[in-house]
Amino acid sequence: MSLSHLTFPIRSDKLTMTASVREHLSHRVTEFQTIDIYETDVYGRVLMLDNHIQLTELDEHAYHESLVQIPLLSMKAPKAALVIGGGDGGVLRELAKHPTIEHVDMVEIDAGVVEESRQWLPGVSDGAFDDPRMHLHLEDAFPFVKNATRKYDLIVADSTDTYEEEDGALSEMLFTDEFYKDCFNALAEGGILVTQADNLLFCPYSLENIEEMFGRVFPKTGSYQAIIPSFGGFSGYCWASKGAEVSSEYPEEKAAKMNFRYLNQATWNFAFTKLAF
Ligand code: SAM
Repeated sequence: MSLSHLTFPIRSDKLTMTASVREHLSHRVTEFQTIDIYETDVYGRVLMLDNHIQLTELDEHAYHESLVQIPLLSMKAPKAALVIGGGDGGVLRELAKHPTIEHVDMVEIDAGVVEESRQWLPGVSDGAFDDPRMHLHLEDAFPFVKNATRKYDLIVADSTDTYEEEDGALSEMLFTDEFYKDCFNALAEGGILVTQADNLLFCPYSLENIEEMFGRVFPKTGSYQAIIPSFGGFSGYCWASKGAEVSSEYPEEKAAKMNFRYLNQATWNFAFTKLAF
């Protein structure tokens, strides 16, 4: 029995989505944002931050597999990774699947997101928070990266978006040239930086801005996409490196050992297909 409905922006008030809600499982206001977790009829459980959708049980695996595995499987033997944001633990879960990964630093500013996700969305992190390779830093990623001493093979930026009509977003400084220069300094020579870039169809400015900034800081950049119904159909991703390449060729042998739910030859090919709308 549906109790009510949840309406959330896909692109500010220009495009919204409404989902029927069975139960409002958690509501928590931290010093950084408002955290809500709902049980919905269609998406399963949904994590919202300041009423912006972050993930749903229905399609988070497609988002996280695409964000992490597409760059990671392009690398020979990545050892150290840095996660910016990602408090729900989905990126950690994907990294934990790789035996070559020896050390992960995750910098999440809001402990509340980790706590609420562990309690209400345990399947997203799937035990990864307790993996001895994972090191959680509950602080602002901007100064952390600026002062980073370790070199990372993979840097995954999985922070909340900045929004067209809102200033002062928590993650505002994480979408700047300065931050990407600091990421450049923290990236190993053969490493790859990847970031989520919002919905490339309805919020094209996000991917365009990131590609422009990446192009000013890194010699190599690129983008790809995934099918994420709860984000309005698509999620864009941007990558950058000092020379390493994210391969558009599906790594069949490596992928076969990973039993992905979303990634396969077809969705990998789709990721690099130029869309024309
Ligand atoms: N998959 C989501 C998306 O595509 O928008 C992101 C999910 S994850 C929950 C986003 C996380 O970024 C939040 O937990 C938020 O607290 C964190 N975050 C935002 N700004 C941050 C900052 N400056 N430093 C560290 N974490 C930050």
